Amino acid sequence: MNVLVINCGSSSLKYQLFDMKNEAVLAKGLVERIGIEGSRLKHEAEGKDKQVIEVPMHNHKDALSQVLFALEHPEYGAIQSLQEINAAGHRVVHAGEKFSASVVVNDSVVAALEECIEIAPLHNPPNIIGIRAIQELLPNIENVAVFDTAFHQTMPKSAYVYALPYEYYERDHVRRYGFHGTSHRYVSQRAAEMLGKPLEETKIISCHLGNGASIAAIKGGKSIDTSMGFTPLEGLVMGTRCGDIDPQIVTYIMGKEGLSLDEMNNIMNKKSGVLGISGVSSDFRDIEEAAEAGNERAILALDIYHDNVRKYIGAYATVLGGADAIVFTAGLGENGAESREEICKGLEFMGAILDKEKNKVRGKEAFVNTEDSSVKIMVVPTNEELMIARDTLELLK
Ligand code: ADP
Repeated sequence: MNVLVINCGSSSLKYQLFDMKNEAVLAKGLVERIGIEGSRLKHEAEGKDKQVIEVPMHNHKDALSQVLFALEHPEYGAIQSLQEINAAGHRVVHAGEKFSASVVVNDSVVAALEECIEIAPLHNPPNIIGIRAIQELLPNIENVAVFDTAFHQTMPKSAYVYALPYEYYERDHVRRYGFHGTSHRYVSQRAAEMLGKPLEETKIISCHLGNGASIAAIKGGKSIDTSMGFTPLEGLVMGTRCGDIDPQIVTYIMGKEGLSLDEMNNIMNKKSGVLGISGVSSDFRDIEEAAEAGNERAILALDIYHDNVRKYIGAYATVLGGADAIVFTAGLGENGAESREEICKGLEFMGAILDKEKNKVRGKEAFVNTEDSSVKIMVVPTNEELMIARDTLELLK
């Protein structure tokens, strides 16, 4: 069975075509600048040269048409005909409280996701458009929706209800949802395999440190707490998001500076985090370079970031009542050896001791703890696309 995995963002679209016989990636690519001048498709099929195709793509349906064209292209395609695509798996950000696992898409699923637009106005619309486009372009295949929020639906109520008047939860669905669920699920399952322990018996602190960042406390394969909240803004300091701040700051700045809701949202989501502190960049490679050159705000940004992640690890070790492993994943978690070292400084008290030599690893699975470390420290590259393809196969088998 060949599964096309699709991840639609507001102006971008990522895809991978899997052959689920052996979970091989037959082709993958990225469309950028959908609906903007200069849209292009970067496409790569197994064993073929990379292609960059520049054509106007006005919307996600245009983009998916180009992707399908590339996939069956006689020169640089991966399949002879579109009939070789047997199913599509879609990343969907927000399912609210409606779904706690992946589902086969039907009209009522789409309607439920549309209802979630109110609480995920930026993320859900392009995800839904992607599903609709595949339904039109490939009407004979089933679509599966895989949700970022689903994995965290196992959190206890005490972890997800905010200390606001209860009617905001009941009436307006304001609660912690958590995100990056597909990544945390993949990483915790893979970590259990690497630990040689049944998933049901593991306690894992999963640190997804990318541009967006979140931590999850995972007990027996189930999320029991996570740092992102009602939106992906809560929790860790991120590339451009502020993470946890005193909520009163928001009304204070808005009042003082006369900012609108949109302006304040933009500041907290796009101008804050390590970018806001350092004034250098949201990319950790740039900030590390500036810090090495002595830029004090870059050094401060890194210190704040590392202290913040460490604090959450300590908190989640308590939530879990101890941990088998601390797992690092995503861009910085997989590649940022210096950051892993800084974050793990001070965790020795709880039995987590980093091995500096082993920690030099970048972008591949590894144990990076010392022999006598009772808590394992691991690098596990995430693979959300594979998880989506596996769910799709499982639901349609
Ligand atoms: P996204 O949330 O966009 O999927 P990624 O998981 O790709 O993000 O992570 C992107 C971030 O990872 C970049 O902003 C960069 O800061 C960080 N990163 C990637 N490679 C390295 C590296 N070699 N060293 C330090 N940081 C890195």
